[in-house]
Amino acid sequence: MKFKSTKEAWEFWTYYGGRTGFDVRINYENKSKVDGVITSARYVCSNEGYRAIDKRDHNTKRPRAETRTGCKARIRITVDREVGDYSVYDLVLEHNHELQLPSTCHLMPSQRKISSLQAFEIETMDDSGIGPKAAHELASRQVGGSVNLGYTRRVLKNHLRTKRQRELMYGEAGNEATFEETFSTIRSKVHKQTWLNSIYKVKEKWAECYMRNVYTLGMRSTQLSESLNNDLKNHLKSDLDIIQFFNNLERVIKGKRDNELDAEYEARKKLPRIKMRVPILVQASKIYTPCIFEYFQNEYERSMAAYIKSSEHNEFIVAIEAPGEASTFEEECKVVGNYAEQQALCTCGQFERTGILCSHALKVLDVMNIKSLPKRYILKRWTREARVGAIEDCYGKIVV
Ligand SMILES: [Zn+2]
Ligand SMILES: [Zn+2]
Repeated sequence: MKFKSTKEAWEFWTYYGGRTGFDVRINYENKSKVDGVITSARYVCSNEGYRAIDKRDHNTKRPRAETRTGCKARIRITVDREVGDYSVYDLVLEHNHELQLPSTCHLMPSQRKISSLQAFEIETMDDSGIGPKAAHELASRQVGGSVNLGYTRRVLKNHLRTKRQRELMYGEAGNEATFEETFSTIRSKVHKQTWLNSIYKVKEKWAECYMRNVYTLGMRSTQLSESLNNDLKNHLKSDLDIIQFFNNLERVIKGKRDNELDAEYEARKKLPRIKMRVPILVQASKIYTPCIFEYFQNEYERSMAAYIKSSEHNEFIVAIEAPGEASTFEEECKVVGNYAEQQALCTCGQFERTGILCSHALKVLDVMNIKSLPKRYILKRWTREARVGAIEDCYGKIVV
């Protein structure tokens, strides 16, 4: 296999990555000091190597997700001085991590590009007052779907942000009056928000008791309908005819599917950060989506601060010690443990509400020497495989 130039080799590697489902990176390009010709180069999978320890890690609440797995997939090329082309002398095609799906490949940074024509279109739409969401939808439609577009809504937003920064730099942002106007609108918006928040805090005090045993998957009661109402309101007006109605409904659904693909892509790209290599966390990191794992890990961490206040037969009174305050405790909960059934039922009702075990139940499972997550507590909808297939536990047994 030969390439005319390093550019051609790099484009090939990028294209191959896009078809196969991995992201690419330039590892090095060696330039001759004499004539500036690139004599050799190595292009790798973006999971190559390991990230150096982040100095901010100990004090950041949400550290950057781990994406490096030390993957060995690579292509190395060297120049043939006489002909001037490049030949491949080292090629590794195996990966040590999950690859992207054909449906999520287009979300990888190496595959997302805004051409200068597209950039022009985006900026024109922005200047005509078309929002980024509508602009992205219009552009997707023109090419028969977002998969063919080559850039995501996020990339489009970033592009517009850069454009604005550029404009600010050249002083095109308008005169003083517009600035004043914008500023006061923003200020009034912020003001409203604080008022809303204070009202919400009052409501929060009593709403909790009513919602104790309701299975809501952790959503606020109206969250789902609010967001759907909002979406529908944006697209549906009472004067639409039936055809327009269905076309618009389809648009709403398409938007939701794009969001789902985005989440699928993120789950494949980012490795969860396990704070302690204990069996239950390792297991949870493999089955849960990154976001749910984070939540679960947080509960596990809280369970480390749990006290068994008293126990009788299989009933445990559990309380969590408040962080930083010795012998101050949160509200006590009663947990009924059952080893034979691999069960821990807590009165706080978190599992029934959200589908994720609470710190109290986790403490009791641990006391009962149950060191991995019982099958009954793995809800398929929170797992990486929620969309397809079966889930295996840490012993390779299919559990859901
Ligand atoms: Zn790889
Ligand atoms: Zn509980």
